[in-house]
Amino acid sequence: MKIVRVGFDVPLDTLFDYRCDDANVADVGARVLAPFGKRSAIGVILEIVASSTIAAPRLRSITRILRDAPGFSAHDIKLIRFAAEYYHHPLGAVVMSALPAGLRRVRRQPAKSLTHYALTALGATRTVDSLPARALAKRRLLALFQAQRVLDSTAINACTPAAGVALKQLVEAGYVAQCEGMLSRVPQASAPTPSAVSGPQLTPDQAGAVASLCADLSAFKPHLLLGVTGSGKTEVYLRIVEAVLQRGRQALLLVPEISLTPQLEATVRGRFPHTRVVSLHSGLNETERLNHWIAAQRGDAGIVLGTRLAVFAPLPELGLIVVDEEHDMSFKQSDGFRYSARDLAVARARQRNVPIVLGSATPALETWHNAASGRYALIRLPNRINNAPPRITCMNTRDVKLDNGLAPALLAAIGERLVRREQSLVFINRRGYAPVLMCHECGWLSGCHRCSAKLVLHAHDRRLHCHHCGYQSMVPLSCPDCGNADLSPVGQGTQRVESTLAERFPQARILRIDRDSTRARGAWRGMRDRIEAREVDILIGTQILAKGHDFTNLSLVGVVNADNLLYSTDFRAPERLYALLTQVAGRAGRGTTQGDVLIQTDFPTHPLYTALRDQDYARFADELLKERRSAGFPPFQYQALLRAEAPKLETAIHWLTRAAVRAREIDDAITVYDPVPAGMVRLAGRERAQLLVQSASRNRLQRFLAGWRLRLAEKKTSAARWSIDVDPLDL
Ligand code: ADP
Ligand code: ZN
Ligand code: ZN
Repeated sequence: MKIVRVGFDVPLDTLFDYRCDDANVADVGARVLAPFGKRSAIGVILEIVASSTIAAPRLRSITRILRDAPGFSAHDIKLIRFAAEYYHHPLGAVVMSALPAGLRRVRRQPAKSLTHYALTALGATRTVDSLPARALAKRRLLALFQAQRVLDSTAINACTPAAGVALKQLVEAGYVAQCEGMLSRVPQASAPTPSAVSGPQLTPDQAGAVASLCADLSAFKPHLLLGVTGSGKTEVYLRIVEAVLQRGRQALLLVPEISLTPQLEATVRGRFPHTRVVSLHSGLNETERLNHWIAAQRGDAGIVLGTRLAVFAPLPELGLIVVDEEHDMSFKQSDGFRYSARDLAVARARQRNVPIVLGSATPALETWHNAASGRYALIRLPNRINNAPPRITCMNTRDVKLDNGLAPALLAAIGERLVRREQSLVFINRRGYAPVLMCHECGWLSGCHRCSAKLVLHAHDRRLHCHHCGYQSMVPLSCPDCGNADLSPVGQGTQRVESTLAERFPQARILRIDRDSTRARGAWRGMRDRIEAREVDILIGTQILAKGHDFTNLSLVGVVNADNLLYSTDFRAPERLYALLTQVAGRAGRGTTQGDVLIQTDFPTHPLYTALRDQDYARFADELLKERRSAGFPPFQYQALLRAEAPKLETAIHWLTRAAVRAREIDDAITVYDPVPAGMVRLAGRERAQLLVQSASRNRLQRFLAGWRLRLAEKKTSAARWSIDVDPLDL
């Protein structure tokens, strides 16, 4: 009797045993449909064994193995197992989360998107010129088939408007055949070497970087590419990707935000017109995501470009991983399965024995430490392509009168840019009109009753919004506490800066870019085009504007409220603020004009600002590392956070206190702190607390966590909902 052990998307550690007599070794990683409780569910086979602890009569049978789409390879399963073990998350939940949604659901009919068309042997012998000159669509489609050999309907339809008819004719002529379900992989060996359009001549720094990166592409080697903003890191990535494609391998490019992928995607497509490039991110619809995933899995996508979830994309011919802006927090999933895509990317590169490049102007201190200690090779791009680093000035705001939060010098500088027809960017880390509404009579502040957060005043709908739980309410006519009718907005948000600037510069074309204005699909793309076409004079934006964009006519960056991040209790705050400001500053002067960065601050001599002015990341990072070492913080210690939430804070704290006692019983060499309320105690009506544990040994911490988790899970019902966050980023 053959037993398959299946993982389902349930919060349980166990795999589930089923009878499945026709399973063979190759089915590990395959999707199955199986009875689960009273319903049917999709799961993934993780093991095939000869016997089960469940008595044979009670053992249920698999409904069927789903062969309509490919499953995971042994490589993929290895990564998934590693991730589940390292992050102490149920294996079934991890394996299911690695599948695109389209393959996770039970459906009656095979997905349309699983239909593919492949070039036949006959089609391969036909030249495009053997087709009538007027059959344009047919010629174009045949050329595409000859370049890529297998196409799905999305790719076919994207090729030409008349694709439907052309496809039918090619099928009738026997040049192309339809294939259903699981496709055999495209044979890489017979593929013509994909050629790239040639890029710009490399600078000596870039050439040096490319040479050392390409020195050995056949083994695991982690590299940190430390390049100032505008130093041409992307060009370096493209060159090594090219080298990897020439070896018939696939490249995985991870980027932090979907907002960044279209720009990079266009660059990559332009450079590699004969290579299939697919993206994987949450902005795709289900069909697109499924198609792209399958293209990666089948090996016909040479380049996969994606956000953190793409780290699990199946890539049979993986030859290189690049993580751009590797310090970015969005590589860490912040709820549920809390993995770090950057760290998993390194683990994956090691498992697959391929090189990995982590690129940043301001690497995470963990990464910097790895480079400093020689575990990662360090490659530097110390200069901008245009050789003009932005000039950074801190404006002391203590003694000047601000106009709605904006310093006169900043307003004057914006005015100058308007005259010179250059663009300015005002960076403010808060959306909405004002962060809070206040009663000056009794001190009442608009708070969210479900969260420990303030309600933000929004101008467009004159409502109060909670940015954490989504709660909205009317602006009260008078103070709910004392009845005073004179409530006023306190502090600055993007909308308030927008209205101030609109008043001050009535002729200027102003564009506000934040989560509110970019929510609609395609909105951000339209905005980017307007910026590039110089249809905008002043940009006002949050984080979304800080990252990676290359706006060539932007010569001024103003930073409005950085100080409130300066004195945070989080030990990572300086690292993050430095990275954020470097990124924002890096948007200035990327074209031919000198860039200026003006930072409004009450503390112009603060060491962080002086380091920023000198743009000396290495010195700043070394200084921070010294502090971290003496304070016993990561990367010199490894941490995990046990998070608990309950309707009442006391319940969560009490539960964690008992967990702390157990922790000390398991391994007294692990440092166990006291439970504390979470940074934001109330969220969406629940109260949260956390318990930090740490050790100087990663292995020891891992062993401890495994044992601790078992103990914590012993009780079937628990007063608190809990989870473990390994290498937590927000404490
Ligand atoms: P980074 O990612 O390091 O901030 P980018 O990769 O965006 O920098 O490059 C900055 C700009 O320089 C881009 O407009 C890019 O096209 C251009 N660039 C890069 N390399 C070269 C080169 N060798 N010659 C000319 N321009 C280049
Ligand atoms: Zn009041
Ligand atoms: Zn709320």
